[in-house]
Amino acid sequence: MKSISNMVLGLAATAMLCGSLAEPSMAQDGTPAKQLFGAVRLPNAAPPAPLGFYAKGCMSGAVALPTDGPTWQAMRLSRNRRWGNPAMIDLLEQFSRDAAGLGWGTGILVGDISQPRGGPMPSGHASHQIGLDADIWFTPKPGQPMTAQQRENLPFTSMLDKSKFLTVDSRKWTSTHARLVMQAASYPQVQRIFVNPAIKKKLCQTWTGDRSLLGKVRPVYGHDEHFHIRMNCPPGAAGCERQAATPSTDDCDSKALAWWFTKEPWAPPKPADPNKKPVKPRQVMLSDLPKACTAVLAAPSHSEAEATYGGEPVAYSSQPAPPAAVGQIDDAIASDPANVPAEVPLPRERPFR
Ligand SMILES: [Zn+2]
Repeated sequence: MKSISNMVLGLAATAMLCGSLAEPSMAQDGTPAKQLFGAVRLPNAAPPAPLGFYAKGCMSGAVALPTDGPTWQAMRLSRNRRWGNPAMIDLLEQFSRDAAGLGWGTGILVGDISQPRGGPMPSGHASHQIGLDADIWFTPKPGQPMTAQQRENLPFTSMLDKSKFLTVDSRKWTSTHARLVMQAASYPQVQRIFVNPAIKKKLCQTWTGDRSLLGKVRPVYGHDEHFHIRMNCPPGAAGCERQAATPSTDDCDSKALAWWFTKEPWAPPKPADPNKKPVKPRQVMLSDLPKACTAVLAAPSHSEAEATYGGEPVAYSSQPAPPAAVGQIDDAIASDPANVPAEVPLPRERPFR
């Protein structure tokens, strides 16, 4: 099969010669970056490049994961977040085949990757900004393709027993779930995986395969209905900021994991000092992102990307908001606390790397 990345590189070159669709212009002064990037519907035409960090950057030359493949289905299409670095799309295709091989239904359900040009999002994630993060549902792909509406409405299934404190529900969690997560961790191009602390603990207690891969599996709030795959910066991606390596041990006795099982992360925030003026969190602006992101945002749309996008009539901006959950409380790097809805109990400190 011809790789999507090669195909799109070719298309990119064509688009640059032929001119392309213009994006609606938007005043950038004073508009938070999440609104600017959230309003763009298609990627720019350029060689693929992750620019900046997972939680502070953007993406050039994105490609879309097709809505349907033999072993995957993209979910919540209205969000228009199935754009990624071609390396990410290739990985998801490979992972979906491997997942089906493990007996994970007929493959995977893919949640958010990134917006067409990456960048901060108006809702949800703190990361997913450079096309190298993807969320995978803890629900296998059914045999039949779902309609666009079914993909909007299918409820998430938590792996936790909500009647207990931070405990995996043994009626839902199976050894296939464990193998699915560990399969994702096994690819050398995967930098880390985020799962709920209860899931990490469960894997620590039960995983009999290569224990060193468990170090890549990082505990974080949320991530009980989906898990999150983060890729390394692709080779030669000069503008991509690397994240520190994960431990090469299973990291099961770490303070970071134990901390989640203390009261501290779940305690209500201390009342604000009445003598202090409340500090309003500052919005991330375009000028806070790598300089190259300004050009990425302003570039004309990739005229051929409409085809990659699938052309299906998804009214991504006018549909009702999908049920909140995936990525609502994302991610390990909460660089933008303003993104997190107030009603979500948020751990006060985040001792993860
Ligand atoms: Zn995520």
